[in-house]
Amino acid sequence: MKADINEFLTALKAKTAGEKEFHQAVQEVVESIWDVYQQNPRYKKAKILERMTEPERVIMFRVPWVDDLGEVQINRGYRVEFNSALGPYKGGLRFHPTVTLSILKFLGFEQTFKNSLTSLPMGGGKGGSDFSPKGKSDNEIMRFCQSFMTELQRHIGPHTDVPAGDIGVGGREIGYLFGQYKRIRNEFTGVLTGKGLAWGGSLIRPEATGFGAVYFVHHMLSLLGKDIAGQTFSVSGFGNVAWGAITKIAELGGKVVTISGPDGYIYDADGIHGEKIDYLLELRATNNDIVEPYAEEFGAKFYPDRRPWEQKVDIAIPCATENEVNLEDAQLLVKNGCFLLAEASNMGCTADAAEYLIKAISYAPGKAVNAGGVAVSGLEMTQNSQRLNWTREEVDGRLHIIMREIHDTCVRYGREGDKINYVKGANVGGFVKVADAMLAQGVV
Ligand code: NAP
Repeated sequence: MKADINEFLTALKAKTAGEKEFHQAVQEVVESIWDVYQQNPRYKKAKILERMTEPERVIMFRVPWVDDLGEVQINRGYRVEFNSALGPYKGGLRFHPTVTLSILKFLGFEQTFKNSLTSLPMGGGKGGSDFSPKGKSDNEIMRFCQSFMTELQRHIGPHTDVPAGDIGVGGREIGYLFGQYKRIRNEFTGVLTGKGLAWGGSLIRPEATGFGAVYFVHHMLSLLGKDIAGQTFSVSGFGNVAWGAITKIAELGGKVVTISGPDGYIYDADGIHGEKIDYLLELRATNNDIVEPYAEEFGAKFYPDRRPWEQKVDIAIPCATENEVNLEDAQLLVKNGCFLLAEASNMGCTADAAEYLIKAISYAPGKAVNAGGVAVSGLEMTQNSQRLNWTREEVDGRLHIIMREIHDTCVRYGREGDKINYVKGANVGGFVKVADAMLAQGVV
């Protein structure tokens, strides 16, 4: 079996040289689903895996804009339309200097399985730019977004491809992108999700990824006979997902003791709750890259240039970016008593860290844990089609059900003796539905 997998991966790597994040994401999925793939000769005959690992379309484009000093700036824009077997392409836009085609291909590939897990009719896609909104004025961000959408608008639409936010793309950026789409196409449609409430957005969308992650953790804990209340959590990042997760953990009686930024991490022994959570939003709004001011504001400890995984906690929830927990971090967490790690970031753990955690503790991958974000984006699309706004309770209630069902799927496909292999469960559960739809739709 190993030899067959290696042969497949060698061929993929030869065709996509240098795309290491994409290779990492494909390898994890292929290893999990290989048995199911072999047992179903129809998949093999139709070359489902070869087709699934080739995006349906990749769009790359120039994004020229003029900064506040009158200088012309040029960034690169992307949209990877990965798989439309289950519905229109759906997935976020990331604006961050680290964005490359490899990163977006890994994210688009993962998104296909994640969207399948939500049971909503959405295909997989991802896009973005190497543009950084950090340190830019509002006008510069608006001009960049308008230039980006001037090209992107010809490739997307409410029945074709519906982007959303991701790192560096929040409500402000979605607003500028939506405004430009509407202006060029002369139509007010649900072409983006994460919109403002007054113009087609959904309640709970900003909180959805973090809330959903905590609902998922709740189900993981239930299987272990435990509860969120009374547990100590380590969270990384201080962005949208971290904020949502911390808000819900505090509400359910857990204690979050860390957040982090590119400058280091904060340890707050009293826990992050109440006005401290509101302060996270203020900190983000300063448009600087640092968490250190939190320490001064609330008398907490700041550890420059270090990561939060060295602290003793019960549960870790990475919420920043890919590969932010390596093997050493994972071993240290477990040594210090951590018994559960749930990735709210996409591919938050390196491959060797994930392999170690699957055996050592209860560990769940991003595509299951953070699927609440895209799930509520899917609900935003439904509300847009109905031209209705649902209540907070209605959206939150549906998010609860979706996260429980994703957890059930992971348990169904991932049970190994008395343990749950959440990686296998999420990959097989997501894969089967996409593969069957591709079979039914012929060789396209
Ligand atoms: P965000 O609001 O922009 O926050 C991202 C956080 O991660 C920030 O604290 C950011 O710090 C840090 N970060 C980003 N890139 C980094 C890098 N290369 N090195 C170190 N730190 C880095 O983004 P978000 O929406 O919370 O997304 C966080 C994670 O969740 C990502 O993996 C994203 O793909 C995933 N996710 C998001 C959603 C969603 O609905 N937003 C849904 C599913 C999954 P700086 O900004 O200061 O660099």
